Amino acid sequence: MEVKVLGSVSPHCTEKYNGPGFLITSGENKILLDCGPGSTRLLDMEKDLKKMTIIISHLHRDHYSDLISSVAYTSYVLHNLGILENKVKVYIPEPDYYTDHENYTNQYGHYDYKLVTKPILDYQLLMNLGFESYLDVQTYNSDSKIQIGDVTATFGYNPHNIMSHSIKLSDGEVSMVYSGDTGYQYNNIEKLAKGTNLLICESTLLRGQSKGNHDYHLYAHEAAKIAYVSKPSILMLTHFWPTIEKEKYVAEALPIFSNTIPAEEGHILKLTNKKST
Ligand SMILES: [Zn+2]
Ligand SMILES: [Zn+2]
Repeated sequence: MEVKVLGSVSPHCTEKYNGPGFLITSGENKILLDCGPGSTRLLDMEKDLKKMTIIISHLHRDHYSDLISSVAYTSYVLHNLGILENKVKVYIPEPDYYTDHENYTNQYGHYDYKLVTKPILDYQLLMNLGFESYLDVQTYNSDSKIQIGDVTATFGYNPHNIMSHSIKLSDGEVSMVYSGDTGYQYNNIEKLAKGTNLLICESTLLRGQSKGNHDYHLYAHEAAKIAYVSKPSILMLTHFWPTIEKEKYVAEALPIFSNTIPAEEGHILKLTNKKST
C-alpha cells in the first residue's frame, strides 16, 4: 500500500494546504479517505477515478465538500467522454441516531456520549446526487467490512458531535488507520490501530487552546497518547489549523511518541512490513 497526503488542514483550504484527504494505492485500486476542500487538486482525475473507492469518515463538510464540488460532476463528464467506465464507489456513514445515547453501548462495550443530532440534509443530498454524476453511493456503519481488491476496510466509532468513524485499511501484510475526527474519551482508535504500520491521527488543538464545552477533537499530545498505547510504526498528525505551523503540533506530540511526523500535502509513504519510507 502507498499513502499520499492530499490535504491536512481544516476547516478551509489555503494556497498551500488542502482540507482532509488521503489517497491510498493498492495495485490498481485507489481508495480516497475523506475529500475535503481543495484535496482533489492533488488527484489525477482521469487516471485516479477509474478504480476509485471514496470513504467519508463523517458528514462534516470539511471532510467531503470536494466530493460534491469536484468529483461528482467530473465523474459525469469523464463518463460522457468515454474515459470513465465504472462508477466511482462512495461510502458514507449511516445517518445519526435520534435516540438518547445516555446508555448507548457500542461494539467495544461502552459509550455514554450524547450525540448532538443534526438534520440529515447532508446525508440526503449525498444519497441523491444522482443526476450529473457517475457515482455509486452506499452507506456503512461500525460493523461494516468493505472489500476493495486486496484491501479490507473496517471501522471504529468515535466521540464527535456527529456520527464519526476511524477507518482501518489492511491488505493482510500492512495496515493503516485514519482517525477521522474524534474526541479523546472513549475513542476506539487505540484498539483499531494496535500494531499498524501507520496511524494518521487528527490533532486539531495545541495545549492551551480551548475545547469549549465539547470534547470533539484531540490535542496533539492526546493523539500522541493514543499512538503510545496502540504503537503504530509511524504517527502522522493531521487536521491542523490552516495558519498555525505544523511543527508546533509535532513538538507537542514528540515527547510522548517519538516517531511523529506532520501530514504534508503531496507526501507519499510506502507501507512495507520492514519499515515505511
Ligand atoms: Zn474536521
Ligand atoms: Zn468533524
